[in-house]
Amino acid sequence: MASNPPSFDGIPEENIIRVTSYHRRDLDHAVLLIEHKQILGSIRQPSRDPLASLGPLQVLPAELLHEVCFLLDIQSLFRFRQVSRGTRNVVSSIRAYQKTAEHAPHTLRAILHTKIASWFTIRDLFQVLHTRDCSCCGAFGGFIFLPTFLRCCFWCVKEGKMPAVVSLDDVSYDNRWKSPDFLNSIPNLLDSIPTVRAKHGFYERCQIGARARRIVTMDDFIRLSEPWIGKKAARKAPFKELEFLPLMATTTLPHLDLASGKIQNVVSCSGCRLRLEQAPKESTEEIDARTLSEKCYSHDEFIAHFRQCHEAQKVWSLSRTDVDIAAKKSDFVRQGGYYPPRPIMRKTY
Ligand SMILES: [Zn+2]
Ligand SMILES: [Zn+2]
Repeated sequence: MASNPPSFDGIPEENIIRVTSYHRRDLDHAVLLIEHKQILGSIRQPSRDPLASLGPLQVLPAELLHEVCFLLDIQSLFRFRQVSRGTRNVVSSIRAYQKTAEHAPHTLRAILHTKIASWFTIRDLFQVLHTRDCSCCGAFGGFIFLPTFLRCCFWCVKEGKMPAVVSLDDVSYDNRWKSPDFLNSIPNLLDSIPTVRAKHGFYERCQIGARARRIVTMDDFIRLSEPWIGKKAARKAPFKELEFLPLMATTTLPHLDLASGKIQNVVSCSGCRLRLEQAPKESTEEIDARTLSEKCYSHDEFIAHFRQCHEAQKVWSLSRTDVDIAAKKSDFVRQGGYYPPRPIMRKTY
């Protein structure tokens, strides 16, 4: 096992992480993000009356009620929770619900908002919450790809490595596809396959304005449409290629370590970011620094990086002196890993 450089021996890792890493909020804003602070409290809390009656359901053993809740999709589970104070207490007492509502309320909001909630159970979501790594590349993943409920990292989504998706609202008609009723010829399309109803907003680090869309996986679309429009047509349906589409169907999800009970988000290196900002423009050093500053780490991975990264070690050493550490940090890190969008006219696609 590699040993710490002597000067960093005995320093609590949490302190190193707090001082020399930061969470990239710009990536959170590049995907689907629903922020409703008032509603989040009501997702988390049971009713104010812990002894509220369940009415006729009172006769059922608690284990059986919990089992029923596990079988319900998330949308139905929320409806059940809203029936009475008693049912709110039952749902709030389920560990999978408690942990998800406590640690990933924004994810729950996004799942409900996009209506994908009717395709997955709270057990499915809890499973992804305590899965650590991206299902595609194996790196630490701070996101969930909603059409398939898979843990993923930002880069696999951005580079199109997750299952291919199409937007049912973006069929580009050519001579072979004159009929705008093409999708209507497939009965009950939206009720039959998991569909993410992504909201309008700015994705891809706030550069691309996108209108609301209904997003499904290409595999699901082919499977469902083949019997109705034929194999060839299903595979060659003329959907527009939209690079930002996978980002519209992805949202943030921290990782819960079941053994320690700790929750963690991906972090990036403050030192590497500072190096990027100080590198001469268009130099090899800038390219190098950009690659490193884009990286996202789990806490363990970051500590391993810190041991190798002189820039991060410099940030740490400065924090031990009387120097105003904030003034010595990268501007981007000082802003909380996110530059709010400028009020300029942007085209919406
Ligand atoms: Zn990945
Ligand atoms: Zn670094």
